[in-house]
Amino acid sequence: MKKTISVLGATGSVGTQALDVARRRGYAVDFMSAARDVRGLERAAREFLPTAVAMADEAAARELSLLLSDTDIRVLSGSEGIVEGILASRSETTVNATLGEAGLMPTLAVIEAGQRLALANKESLVIAGDIVTSRAREAGVEIIPVDSEHSAIFQSLASGRAGEVKRLLLTASGGPFFGYTEEEISRVTLADTLRHPTWKMGRKITVDSATLMNKGFEIIEAHHLFGVPSEKIEVVVHRESILHSAVEYIDNAVVGQMSVPDMRMCVQYAVDYPERVAPVIEPLDLFEVGRLTFNRLDESVFGAPALAKRAIIDGGAMPAVLNAADEVAVGAFLREEIGFSEIMPVVTEVYEKTSDARSAHSLDDIISADRRARALAGERIKRK
Ligand code: MG
Repeated sequence: MKKTISVLGATGSVGTQALDVARRRGYAVDFMSAARDVRGLERAAREFLPTAVAMADEAAARELSLLLSDTDIRVLSGSEGIVEGILASRSETTVNATLGEAGLMPTLAVIEAGQRLALANKESLVIAGDIVTSRAREAGVEIIPVDSEHSAIFQSLASGRAGEVKRLLLTASGGPFFGYTEEEISRVTLADTLRHPTWKMGRKITVDSATLMNKGFEIIEAHHLFGVPSEKIEVVVHRESILHSAVEYIDNAVVGQMSVPDMRMCVQYAVDYPERVAPVIEPLDLFEVGRLTFNRLDESVFGAPALAKRAIIDGGAMPAVLNAADEVAVGAFLREEIGFSEIMPVVTEVYEKTSDARSAHSLDDIISADRRARALAGERIKRK
């Protein structure tokens, strides 16, 4: 039977790859959303003919509505429009590839709608992991990760029971500056940072890969998805991005998942799970790969994963604070207002100054801690 999906963040890097999977696998697309790329969403809507589309930006939604006036496609507007579109859609699975914290409300709406959540928006779990996972459990909604590492862990967990897991081995490409000293890092430019060795991604996540903050967020994400405490999650630098992560069991067996680095495999797996189906990616040629390497991360140079583990232990809204401060600092770096080596000091300072957010637990309290952290980060950058 033909699968029906929704794609949120349909014009972004993961979103367009999700639509490519839909194209190759013949999934119907019932709903899609984007922030403000009117032309991109129009093109996708004309190809997939969804029941509805939504744009977060209201002016963009008005423009799209005119462009699609010759079709029957409903055009919804704003974040309420995105939620409305999710709740009204008949999709079995929604791929949430929204960028940043804007992905949280859509994640909660997908759970409310009782659809399977193919989750590429890691911020949903970083900001409100306890709320998202407990609501999913209550609603009987499956969250299947679309992040490559978590998809690999999810697949590897099929070979044992939860109580038999000793550690999660979370692989990291190490980013463009792996092996650099602090001194060398102080001289890197924006262009150096945007050159990622193995994965094709958006700009924000490419910067997060260079600081290793992306790996920090992935530790938080893994903690919530798999219920594993932070001390049992180990980062392993693996430059080739062929082993996408692994699970070590209590009998010391290590079970991992390998494939060519291509996000489309993760999207397909999340939609078709538990079935294995015809590929959308190239086969892995181990003879061509030749050798795989594994290294320890130098935490004295890359402090982000350790700070993320601290945020898990501090709890409350601290992971949300970490994410908010990072979004603001990376935004300033992308506009060349601060240098690469100033990103982590801004994030760390905001984290320390917002430490009372440890006791925030409700969604409202988490969101207000997030706003406070953003304001503090903005002030800190302006003062510089
Ligand atoms: Mg990843």
